[in-house]
Amino acid sequence: MQRYSVFAVAREALRFHKGWERAWKSPQPKKKYDVIIIGAGGHGLATAYYLGKNHGITNVAVIEKGWLGGGNTGRNTTIIRSNYLQDPSAAIYEKARSLYETMSQDLNMNVMFSPRGVMMLAQTEHEVRGYQRTAHANSLQGVTTEFIGPERVKQLCPIIEIRGPRYPVLGALWQARGGTARHDAVAWGYARACSAMGMDIIQRCEVKGVRSENGKVTGVSTTKGEIGCDKLGIVVAGNSGVVADMAGFRLPIESVALQALVSEPIKPCMDVVVMANTVHGYMSQSDKGEMVIGGGTDGYNNYTQRGSFHHIEETVRALVETFPIISRLKMLRQWGGIVDVTGDRSPILSRTPLGNCYINCGWGTGGFKAIPGSGWGFAELMAKGQSPLCDAFGLERFREGRFIDESVAAGVAH
Ligand SMILES: Cc1cc2nc3c(=O)[nH]c(=O)nc-3n(C[C@H](O)[C@H](O)[C@H](O)COP(=O)(O)OP(=O)(O)OC[C@H]3O[C@@H](n4cnc5c(N)ncnc54)[C@H](O)[C@@H]3O)c2cc1C
Repeated sequence: MQRYSVFAVAREALRFHKGWERAWKSPQPKKKYDVIIIGAGGHGLATAYYLGKNHGITNVAVIEKGWLGGGNTGRNTTIIRSNYLQDPSAAIYEKARSLYETMSQDLNMNVMFSPRGVMMLAQTEHEVRGYQRTAHANSLQGVTTEFIGPERVKQLCPIIEIRGPRYPVLGALWQARGGTARHDAVAWGYARACSAMGMDIIQRCEVKGVRSENGKVTGVSTTKGEIGCDKLGIVVAGNSGVVADMAGFRLPIESVALQALVSEPIKPCMDVVVMANTVHGYMSQSDKGEMVIGGGTDGYNNYTQRGSFHHIEETVRALVETFPIISRLKMLRQWGGIVDVTGDRSPILSRTPLGNCYINCGWGTGGFKAIPGSGWGFAELMAKGQSPLCDAFGLERFREGRFIDESVAAGVAH
């Protein structure tokens, strides 16, 4: 793999950038692999990367029906934080957040991780109590967060109107080392590193069926032919129910569109991420100057990846109360992604009824932040059959009623 560095940029500048090699190969599928991962989103690619890096398994194919990173990974609003309530969640999200800190160096790709700080506003007494409780839980879990008062909120984000007409800001849960990263670069970085390890990333190849014999997967039927494997990982987010159906089992999951939008670029005015869950919206400013805005999921199940007008109106109307400065901004683009939501708002990282088939899904509205931790744990689960990061997130928890309730940390917040 050609290394990216300041010297490489200078060298290529002198020879009109003709010496760059392709970041990853585009091979035809082989007849059989040790492991097939369906889905080249962040979670699928990170799983493949850690299978190679941590477990020495490199005869791996990642199969993608569109282009890599073209699912939710390239559609999200890139918020990274680990201030969840329950212990298993804090463990996997904090592992992920800590891996983001060194990801650019590990992958030799600038993923633009920006730990600018994330605040979740408390705008009702109920939220104050809820976030104070989370701050206490986080301190026991070793996750650094604090509950701050309205004056500190105003100091950290001067454009906030803390005396809002309906919902004044009463405080916030603040995670100083939370932030954002460039979502495409995360997918590209993992893809490039996987390709360098000899793995095949096969784009424009849709899985149409899962073949099995005697309760074990033998391979997949795709638009590029039959491909055999010893182990299968299903990592397809909003399409999880569809692919699980091909493998012959059902999931306790719903697919629903989540939308976001960006404004025209403006001068820097906000260097933190703010979520306002009561009024149902959140905002940060991209390096280009656009205000990146998101809200809640659509109120009905669907598989669309488009935005809709009522959503812009609802979300922007809610945010204008807290950020009056944005009332005259023009909105440039909107889009949607299909998120996979579980009843307890926690992911599924699990074995399945098919012995050698594993599933990673259910990240819902908040899985971008989890990509490295999820890949780390899921690769361990696939390689060894067990992983401390994944133990609590098995499918059996729905049968046993052992929910990991993150509806406060992940219901609206991303
Ligand atoms: C608008 C929006 C905002 C969000 N904001 C945030 C945020 O701020 N912070 C955060 O942490 N999370 C956020 N999320 C959630 C986050 O984007 C997802 O949880 C995460 O990207 C899921 O990654 P993934 O790799 O599991 O799925 P994806 O990136 O969707 O990848 C799955 C891949 O599987 C492929 N696939 C599906 N079916 C098949 C098939 N049959 N054959 C082959 N390939 C198939 C798809 O094409 C897709 O590329 C947001 C999501 C959206 C939509």
